[in-house]
Amino acid sequence: MSQYPAHPTRRTTSLRLRTTCLLALALPLALAPAGLVRANEPAPAPAAKSGAAAAPSSPSSGKGIGKDIAAQLREAMESGQLQKKQLTLKVNADEPTKAPAAAMPAPAQPATNLKASRQYIRAKAAALAAKPDAAESHQDNAHEVHWGYEGDAGPQAWSKLKPEFGTCASGKRQSPIHIEESATLQGPAEVLQFSYKPSNASVVNNGHTIQVDMSGDNTLTVRGSTFKLLQFHFHNPSEERVNFKTYAMVVHLVHKNDAGQLAVVAVLLDPGVTNTLINKVWTYMPLEVGDRVSMPAYFIDLNELLPEDRRYYQFMGSLTTPPCSEDVLWMVLKQPRPVSQDQLKLFARIFPHNARPIQPVNGRVVRSAQ
Ligand SMILES: [Zn+2]
Repeated sequence: MSQYPAHPTRRTTSLRLRTTCLLALALPLALAPAGLVRANEPAPAPAAKSGAAAAPSSPSSGKGIGKDIAAQLREAMESGQLQKKQLTLKVNADEPTKAPAAAMPAPAQPATNLKASRQYIRAKAAALAAKPDAAESHQDNAHEVHWGYEGDAGPQAWSKLKPEFGTCASGKRQSPIHIEESATLQGPAEVLQFSYKPSNASVVNNGHTIQVDMSGDNTLTVRGSTFKLLQFHFHNPSEERVNFKTYAMVVHLVHKNDAGQLAVVAVLLDPGVTNTLINKVWTYMPLEVGDRVSMPAYFIDLNELLPEDRRYYQFMGSLTTPPCSEDVLWMVLKQPRPVSQDQLKLFARIFPHNARPIQPVNGRVVRSAQ
């Protein structure tokens, strides 16, 4: 994305989700037992076209299954099939398949066992969704599981919604936490080295928050490691509580290093004057779930968001959204930035409450960097 788009590009929810589904399915399909497989299929199995599934497969052309599926996907995309609710892919039963080492047991009759194929694909998709990459990105690879902030799918239930979300309940280093200055380890600490520059970005409404996905080379160097900024997003009210105070909102800046470790910087927001960076994001805020809007070239400069005072609290925690993976390095900047009442209201219209409750500290040390 190097050109300024004449008009912000928009995609519909359904198309994005379908595409994600298809991409997520591409790998499992390549490994799945041969048979007939449908993408985006609802749980109850429709009357199976067993004839089609059991039909003799076309002669092998020497192409691998992966290639075959890629070709089918490409064809489907070109012919507009992605607009349909279902896409049917045929996997040639005669093609040699590479069984995953110790992943899922292969069904006894792969060519006709549609149910097993579906179970396999669901399990594989779930395993993929549980990867840390899905993480705090709020990208919701686990879109088949509906989690939220209240009711039956609220934070108390997250761990029960899916085995991969178990850490949400069993984890001992979960976020967010209540930070009490008097209980922190006070002393000198390294300076956070932000290297942020005007960058291309797109903003998405993922159903849980407004998230800005960043391009370009924005980095944070801390603890001898350089973390690249992937995205930032918002919570209303702030998830963090500092000295018994919950802030109006918080921005989470999510970074990742080459080793795959995550470092999240929290910028607290207090009611005040209009926030210029937020104004930019809200201008392009997609109103419907799944909508994504590309912003003008080099539009987002996160130096506009950072407070002047870079002192911070530091501790080890987790993602604050499922799957609640731990080993996330948290830095909560002490000085809040302003956000106007109008800006708060606008976000609250779409996300009236998207903050996980406070989690137990469990003896963790919180550093207060002076
Ligand atoms: Zn967050």
